[in-house]
Amino acid sequence: MRYMICTFLLGVVALSGCTATQKGAGIGALIGGGVGYAVGKQSGNDAAGAAIGATVGAIGGGLIGNKMEDKNMFICPECGRSFSSSVEYCPYDGTALKSAQ
Ligand SMILES: [Zn+2]
Repeated sequence: MRYMICTFLLGVVALSGCTATQKGAGIGALIGGGVGYAVGKQSGNDAAGAAIGATVGAIGGGLIGNKMEDKNMFICPECGRSFSSSVEYCPYDGTALKSAQ
């Protein structure tokens, strides 16, 4: 199931690899695009609405996906907390984080 979603989104988003962030961004873009299209359609501006919705959705979805990130997590060897791959040092004790994989 997970791989089916991954493969599906790869086709949609056309990104290499498939992290939770990318999946979140892809899902967000799809949902945002759909919502933006529906909202924009009511104001007679469906293309712009879809574009804006997709952008907002991708950003929001990326943020959500980043929190669900399970492949590129970094773990603090000192306290065992895990962080997203955007964090290099543990904010609690300053230890350099290690890749979870
Ligand atoms: Zn730590």
